[in-house]
Amino acid sequence: MTAPKYKRIMIKLSGEALAGEKGYGFDFEVIKRIAQEIKEIVEMGVEVGCVVGGGNIWRGRNGIDMDRTTADYMGMLATCINAMALQDSLESIGVKTRVQTAIEMREIAEPFVRRRAVRHLEKGRVVIFAAGTGNPYFSTDTAAALRAAEIEAEAILLAKNVDGVYDSDPNVNKDAKKFDRLTFMQVLEKELKVMDSTATSLCKDNNIPIIVFALDQPGNIKRAVLGENIGTVVEN
Ligand code: UDP
Repeated sequence: MTAPKYKRIMIKLSGEALAGEKGYGFDFEVIKRIAQEIKEIVEMGVEVGCVVGGGNIWRGRNGIDMDRTTADYMGMLATCINAMALQDSLESIGVKTRVQTAIEMREIAEPFVRRRAVRHLEKGRVVIFAAGTGNPYFSTDTAAALRAAEIEAEAILLAKNVDGVYDSDPNVNKDAKKFDRLTFMQVLEKELKVMDSTATSLCKDNNIPIIVFALDQPGNIKRAVLGENIGTVVEN
C-alpha cells in the first residue's frame, strides 16, 4: 500500500458539500459517503481534523436586512448542526470523533482546547471543529486555516463542487483553464476564488498548502492524501 503523503491534515467541508444536489439542508447519502472516505484515511494512519461550513443552513452575508453580527452568529451555530451530523455519520461506522466548538456549548461538544484537540488526533480520533473561529466577520475557510495552523496540519484539503481552481468560471466559460499549481501570491493578486483573502493570507504566512479538489468524485480524499495530482495545489 502506498504511504500517505501527510501525517496530519485538515479537511474543509463547505456546508453545501453536506447538502448534495439539493443545495440546502442535508443529503445523508452524501454525508455517509464522505464519512466512509474519511474512515479510509484514518485507517491508513492519517490524523484528521475537519472544519465544516454552514452555508447549507445559513450564511451571514446573505443580503437579508439584519444585524451582521447576529447573522454571523447564526452562521456559526449552523456549523455546529453540521458538525453533529458529520459526527453521527462517522461514529455510526466506527470512527471515533470529538466535536470541539469555538463557542461553548458543553452539553453537546467540548470547547476548543488546542492541546486536547492534538491529543485526540494522536489517539486516532477525528476532531471536528465547529462554530468557525467564534468571531463574526470571519469565515469557516479562515477557521480551517487557523485550526490547521494551531494543530500543525501539513495541508488543508479543500473539498469543493469543482475539480480545482480555474482562470474563469468553468460553468460559464467552456475554455476556462484549470491550474495544477498556484502560489498564494497569484491567488491573492488574481483574486482567484479559492478561499477568501483572510484565509489565504493565513495559509500563506504559515506555509500551509491547500489542495483544492472535487468532492463528488468518489475516492478523492484518499487520492489527495496520497499526494496524487487531482485538482489544484496552492502553496508558497
Ligand atoms: N461565520 C462567522 N465566523 C466564523 C465562521 C463562520 O461569522 O469564524 C459565519 C458567517 O456568517 C458565515 C457562516 O458562519 O457566512 C457560515 O460559514 P461559511 O459561509 O464559511 O460556510 P460555507 O460557505 O463553508 O458553507
